[in-house]
Amino acid sequence: MPITTIALTEQQQELVDASVAAGEADDAAALVLLALRELAAGVRPRPHPRPAGRPWAWQDAIVDAPAYERTLLAEAVLAPGTGKAFEVRAGQILRVEQIDGDQCVDLNVFNLHDYREFMHVGRTRTLHGVNPTAGDFLWSAPPRERALMYLLTDTAGINDTLFPRCSANMYESMHGFADHTNCADIQAEAQREYGLTPDDVHDSFNLFMATRVTDAGMPEILRQQTSPGDHVELLALVDTLAVPNVCGNDVMGTSNFSLDPVLVRTYAASTADVAVVPPLLAYDTQRTPADFRQPAIRAERALRRDPDYVPAFARTPVRLVDVKVELDDEHAALLDGLRHAETAKDDGTALRDVLLTWWVATHG
Ligand SMILES: [Zn+2]
Repeated sequence: MPITTIALTEQQQELVDASVAAGEADDAAALVLLALRELAAGVRPRPHPRPAGRPWAWQDAIVDAPAYERTLLAEAVLAPGTGKAFEVRAGQILRVEQIDGDQCVDLNVFNLHDYREFMHVGRTRTLHGVNPTAGDFLWSAPPRERALMYLLTDTAGINDTLFPRCSANMYESMHGFADHTNCADIQAEAQREYGLTPDDVHDSFNLFMATRVTDAGMPEILRQQTSPGDHVELLALVDTLAVPNVCGNDVMGTSNFSLDPVLVRTYAASTADVAVVPPLLAYDTQRTPADFRQPAIRAERALRRDPDYVPAFARTPVRLVDVKVELDDEHAALLDGLRHAETAKDDGTALRDVLLTWWVATHG
């Protein structure tokens, strides 16, 4: 029988070794043939244990144990054109509520004790879709990658992760405004209360913003239909600085062409609020500055080369490992059948596609 050689990276080999160690096949070659047969028959995803993480008891960070009922901590009406920074500590709730309805609200979230950890809309979108709602989390950016807040309540069910904050330049370049209310500047002004700069404003999570992706793959703003009293409640899992602002856009459908105030309250959560958060895991790869090779925040703006720099990229150079597989006529025919769906040119590349496609589908 002809022998086909598959070139795997050592990292891919680790997945194969784990499957063999788990008894899925006798050896790497047998696993490749299993992948070929199962993929040809239509992959049947089957439950596999996720890689082990440690339980993350975020509740341990709550200073005051939750009481039976919520306690109001702060209350403010955000006027059109404004925003405000709120300290929302672990076990506290940020509630943003419509007063007149139809108002989009942009939100930034920082770790209160380390502003370089902040909400990552991209990861949030990947995990929860373009319109996250109750039951979803707001995540921080790599290398931190942990849940910062939990979406406890969402009566309108329209929140957006597609659109970046509107900006002064957007209104000038599109409509000729020399000056116009905009989320980037409103956020910057609100964050200034805590010493942050306009460069520290990050991509916003857009509350009460109805959007979708069109068939052509473009983001689209829909007319929103929120009513007075509609609200979103976010429960902080770590101590945060949460900064909501009234979106300054009165020339798009974002807020149905009006600028309206919104009501913001913070509460100490009740035991029932805290109990509803699903269990979370902690991983070593959720890194903190203690893990950084360069933990200091730069104080000067100009960049200068470090003459002592020596690259230290992880797991490099990337090494390849050969796996040899004997393909009998039956398996060669299966590979030919699958090849129509593959772009791989040679048998080794096609078999690697089959192996990894199968592995991810059945072990993810
Ligand atoms: Zn805006």
